[in-house]
Amino acid sequence: MISNINHVKKVMGDLSAKKKYGQNFLIDSNIVDKIAKIACDSNCLTIEIGPGLGALTEMLLKYSKAVDAYEIDKDMYNILLDSITDERLSAYLEDFLDTDLNKYVDQELRVCSNLPYYVTTPILFKLFESSLNITKITVMVQREVADRFNAKVNSEDYSALSIIVQYLYDVKYEMSIPKNVFYPAPKVDSAVISFTPKVERDAEFEKKLFGLIKNSFAMRRKTLHNNFIQFLDKETIEKIYSDLHFDKNVRAQELTLSDFLKINELL
Ligand code: SAM
Repeated sequence: MISNINHVKKVMGDLSAKKKYGQNFLIDSNIVDKIAKIACDSNCLTIEIGPGLGALTEMLLKYSKAVDAYEIDKDMYNILLDSITDERLSAYLEDFLDTDLNKYVDQELRVCSNLPYYVTTPILFKLFESSLNITKITVMVQREVADRFNAKVNSEDYSALSIIVQYLYDVKYEMSIPKNVFYPAPKVDSAVISFTPKVERDAEFEKKLFGLIKNSFAMRRKTLHNNFIQFLDKETIEKIYSDLHFDKNVRAQELTLSDFLKINELL
């Protein structure tokens, strides 16, 4: 069992966890098992970002057809190769942000990662923007990041980002994760969140809808109307307000995804 503090200390030997690579290793096998169960499908290849010492990799192999793991740190990569001999694991010493994902077209994929927090956003956007057939993304992130993705209308965390991601995915806050299941323990609280795609992708439609959403939130403290006048003409604004019965003082953070879809239709 790799997710165990004694094993971690033993295989690390003289090495210490590298902060610059966001290394916080999971040391609770029950939690690792739960994450892998949520993430995997036994018929699918799972891509793992940052396998580290292999705690999650070991469990992903248990529930997946095979695992492709991308690790940036040579020390971790070498330990991983020594620890896991399962032929269904393909490990790559590679920065995931540089990985060409084209080799995965035409196959159903799952993605799972205890993410290195310093690159959470670029990694997630690389996945969101890819045209691969990823049927579920399950990731450990800082709790505040999970809250932002999962934010509901009218809450402080609700933003253009939450609406855009919730248009593309069913976002599920899977569980809160305490600091003491990592070695070394991170300073921030963590959570596991999953993204399951829910729409057919359409680049042109997305460009228009996401532009509308981002522009509506451009000046968060101002009313929707004050944001609208920066990019829409007067007649269009009037039509939106009368057709959708908006109050003149409404703000973008009071509108649901369905409101934005209706506005987009009127444009
Ligand atoms: N999966 C292990 C676990 O759960 O115990 C380690 C998770 S640790 C939070 C993040 C891992 O990602 C580290 O092994 C780190 O070296 C690796 N990493 C950091 N940046 C990376 C990148 N750009 N591409 C691939 N791996 C990266």
